[in-house]
Amino acid sequence: MTEVVSVDPQHPDPEIIARAAEILREGGLVAFPTETVYGLGADGLNPVALARLFEAKGRPATDPVILHIVDLEALPQLAREIPPAAWTLARRFWPGPLTLVLPKQPIVPDLATAGLPTVALRMPAHPVALALIRAAGVPIAAPSANRFGHTSPTTAQHVLEDLAGRIDLILDAGPTAIGVESTVVDLTRPVPTILRPGGLPREALEAILGPVAVFDRSVAGPAPAPGMLPKHYAPRAEMVVLIGSGGWLRLRLRELAIRYLQEGYRVGMLIAEEDQPAVADLPVEIAVLGSEGDLEGVARRLYPAMRDLDARGPDLILARDFGTRGLGLAIRDRLIRAAGGRVMKAEDSP
Ligand code: AMP
Ligand code: MG
Repeated sequence: MTEVVSVDPQHPDPEIIARAAEILREGGLVAFPTETVYGLGADGLNPVALARLFEAKGRPATDPVILHIVDLEALPQLAREIPPAAWTLARRFWPGPLTLVLPKQPIVPDLATAGLPTVALRMPAHPVALALIRAAGVPIAAPSANRFGHTSPTTAQHVLEDLAGRIDLILDAGPTAIGVESTVVDLTRPVPTILRPGGLPREALEAILGPVAVFDRSVAGPAPAPGMLPKHYAPRAEMVVLIGSGGWLRLRLRELAIRYLQEGYRVGMLIAEEDQPAVADLPVEIAVLGSEGDLEGVARRLYPAMRDLDARGPDLILARDFGTRGLGLAIRDRLIRAAGGRVMKAEDSP
């Protein structure tokens, strides 16, 4: 049985937190809110708890998890060879949506790092998450609280839909603020490298580190054939992402929708407010993510909109890109992964 307990997002009841922490210390699984998405927590130093975590999510053991901490003292306990840049980033952006990859200390179980010599660490900025990790007294492994490959949860209801009966407790503190996962930065390379763009914009990192490398899925070579990339953050429907901007993007969005309709697809569209007039007359299901200029709003609505649109039954979702500035990079990454790499450029002919 999975219990769902409501907690105040700012001032969680200490008794509820104490009980959740005890479940974690005993090797159980507790889903809790962070500022990015809901995480599924397990004792990050307990291999048995970690094994349960991977099992509950259906996550392959080759995919390492992030360990969540509440104070800077935990950093040298879990990581080694910490460069000055790591301390600077931690002091500047923690608690917050930034994950640092560093060489691991031997205390970190191989299961947490998928056998890698590095560990990923983050201090989340949510009072419930911080209170829970503090009460547990151990680093908490917390990947997103969804079945592996599904869309990440931004509400307790989403967690329940994926993990009911598979985990012990869900702490419900309402919808999450950022809506996409943390930015993962690898500091073990000669040039700091964003492995996964996320809630902390690249620009904020570069203001401190200078130029960083980014693994950009849209320019990582020719778009692979459908099914070539492992799907992640994915809806049930097939998805295609259209990259581009302005009038060209809108024109191509409309053309593509019409083409898919002619091919007999039930078409869903993930679009910006500004795109609405261009497709309003088409028999498609539409989810509006927000204004092109409001990337925070688009990021926050991305996963819930994907779920809602998917539930309306389209067999193909056509999504538009929001560029690479600020949170745009994370939004693009999640769209491309949800689409399993099916990307089209607005300047290409369909
Ligand atoms: P999730 O826990 O689902 O938010 O995903 C965590 C992601 O962080 C993984 O899929 C990796 O991309 C990255 N990550 C975690 N640990 C490491 C590590 N030791 N080295 C490199 N990347 C990591
Ligand atoms: Mg995940």
